[in-house]
Amino acid sequence: MKTDSKCVLAKVAPEENGENRGMATMICPVCGKRIRETNLERYFEDNSENTIELCTDCREEFEGDNDLQIDSDTLDGDIYGKLLNFASTITIDEESQGINDLTAPVVATALGGDAWQSGGGIWLIVKRTTDGRVVTISPEVVNEYSNEEAFEEDRPKISLVMS
Ligand SMILES: [Zn+2]
Repeated sequence: MKTDSKCVLAKVAPEENGENRGMATMICPVCGKRIRETNLERYFEDNSENTIELCTDCREEFEGDNDLQIDSDTLDGDIYGKLLNFASTITIDEESQGINDLTAPVVATALGGDAWQSGGGIWLIVKRTTDGRVVTISPEVVNEYSNEEAFEEDRPKISLVMS
């Protein structure tokens, strides 16, 4: 398989049920949206095999950002480079990274703890151990408190800074 960094290709979305058989659903590699394969747009670099796939919304956003109009699926190197830059710098599926309102409950369940939102939209995993300690996990720091009281007063016994 070619792992050319000058290509941005869509992945096939996993089937949710049997109803859409024969109509592949793709995931736009730029915005992460699920789209019909027939709605996926494919652009090629002139005189090369480099390919970028993305959805119509993302292509229109690119055109707007760069004040240009793509009128062919074969792009000259200059425009291809711009589109590649656009397609590869946008964070794919930001929601699935770090600890946030979507991931915190999943992590909490896995650890047998609770997801808890502190001020400023920061999510914590709060795990209470059978011997009465409280462990909190956030993207920045893991704290261990000797007991519930120490947790409420924010006096960690051990504080491990993650970043
Ligand atoms: Zn898109």
